[in-house]
Amino acid sequence: MINHGEHACDLLVISPHTDDAEIGLGGTIRLLSEQGRRVWAVDLTRGELGTNATPAERWIEAGKASKVMGLAGRAQLEFPDGFIDSTDREQVGQVATVIRRLQPRWIVTAPDPVRHPDHQETPQLVARAVFLSRLAAWETGAPDGKLWAGGDPWPDPAERWETEAVFSVCPDGGAPKIIFDISSTWQAKQEALACYASQFARQEGRRPTWINDGAFMEKIERRARTWGRRAGAKFGEGLCSLASPVLTDIPTERWV
Ligand SMILES: [Zn+2]
Repeated sequence: MINHGEHACDLLVISPHTDDAEIGLGGTIRLLSEQGRRVWAVDLTRGELGTNATPAERWIEAGKASKVMGLAGRAQLEFPDGFIDSTDREQVGQVATVIRRLQPRWIVTAPDPVRHPDHQETPQLVARAVFLSRLAAWETGAPDGKLWAGGDPWPDPAERWETEAVFSVCPDGGAPKIIFDISSTWQAKQEALACYASQFARQEGRRPTWINDGAFMEKIERRARTWGRRAGAKFGEGLCSLASPVLTDIPTERWV
């Protein structure tokens, strides 16, 4: 049983689709959860444009993966898959509401902003929402979407919320600002990914995609080894900064 700390949410991972948090940050989520940190995942869409599986099937898989990673909570919003839009007031407002509810210390957007338009749009959407969530004049709405039954309910909202730091999962060839050593949780990350059989396993009756080609898992491993090597560890997950952390003191915890 994972023992969580006092914060409602230490780290909030915001992604377009249910498997993105696991791909980008599965090892870190498990690592932090094991140390009592409360990590939430918020998936912006139901993934209805996925080539394989229905949103309901994918949500069941997400529940299994959430358990493997030790998430404190998970929510799925209902933004239109393929049409995440950082200029859409409703979408920005929904994410700002989630931030005021969860009051995260850190936010990471996953995965890296390449290829899929939703992946490119999400970091900008989150940056707007982080800004909006600090403004006292902006009124919090009610969070839409559904909560994972195995996790916590929504906490009461803060009147306004100042997020300490915002990062995105670092793309290949990028320059990570932070690397988490996930050598001890690499196995768990693979287990979490394996929960998404409809997405990553080329089973009978499933259409071939680039993510159910074995080369995709090799790519994930190659990246983990690359960031790990930079940190003197076997496996790593790298984060880039969306906004520079603002400090008034050297962090109490040792940082490297
Ligand atoms: Zn995705």
